[in-house]
Amino acid sequence: MNIETNLSLVGEQIAQLERQYQRNAGSVRLLAVSKTKPLEAIRAAYQAGQRLFGENYVQEAVEKHSALTDLVGIEWHFIGPIQSNKSRVIAQTMDWVHTIDREKIARRLSEQRPDDMPKLNVCIQVNISGEESKSGISLESLPEMVSLVKSLPNLQLRGLMAIPAPQEDEAKQMAVYRPLSQAYLELASSDSMIDTLSIGMSGDLSAAIASGSTMVRVGTAIFGARDYI
Ligand SMILES: *Cc1c(COP(=O)(O)O)cnc(C)c1O
Repeated sequence: MNIETNLSLVGEQIAQLERQYQRNAGSVRLLAVSKTKPLEAIRAAYQAGQRLFGENYVQEAVEKHSALTDLVGIEWHFIGPIQSNKSRVIAQTMDWVHTIDREKIARRLSEQRPDDMPKLNVCIQVNISGEESKSGISLESLPEMVSLVKSLPNLQLRGLMAIPAPQEDEAKQMAVYRPLSQAYLELASSDSMIDTLSIGMSGDLSAAIASGSTMVRVGTAIFGARDYI
């Protein structure tokens, strides 16, 4: 498993998809999802130039954050579910949270963000797969959540995120993303700080980039298969 090689292959794949779907070069950023992977794997990716890392278990994210403070410019993105008793450590350590889907969590993260840190960048998680998914708010309740997040002083709304249920082919993947991309474009047109549509994983990069993704979250294609999910 050569992380440097994998990173450059994923980078080339993203660049090729940007061309294919008339997206600007460099408009899709790569979040390396390092959950369950050891510190050495993160160091290897960092050495190869990767700066954005995603974790989705609180304890693991916080431990990795404190073990890797020597990596200048590293950016930590939390992409997992958040229980309210875990919000404080996330507010104290993370640069981004992609999984805002409850008012209570949004309020706590803002209250608990230390004053000497920049605002916490957040994405609102949208459920675009109906009953198949437990996380994320409906598109109907998006306007209300957007106003709430914008009213909280220590959060900076950056965009939307989704984890769709797997679909067998690309046309179906794109159909599921369509209403989300539409909602994102409307939101971004009214607020210049909104620049992130966090969609696309190892299995649906193409559909996500065709649908306007600006940040793909890739684990397996960089770090190899995980022993557990
Ligand atoms: C694990 C995970 C990913 C990465 O998935 P891969 O299939 O390994 O690329 C992306 N997003 C979220 C929210 C995840 O939990």
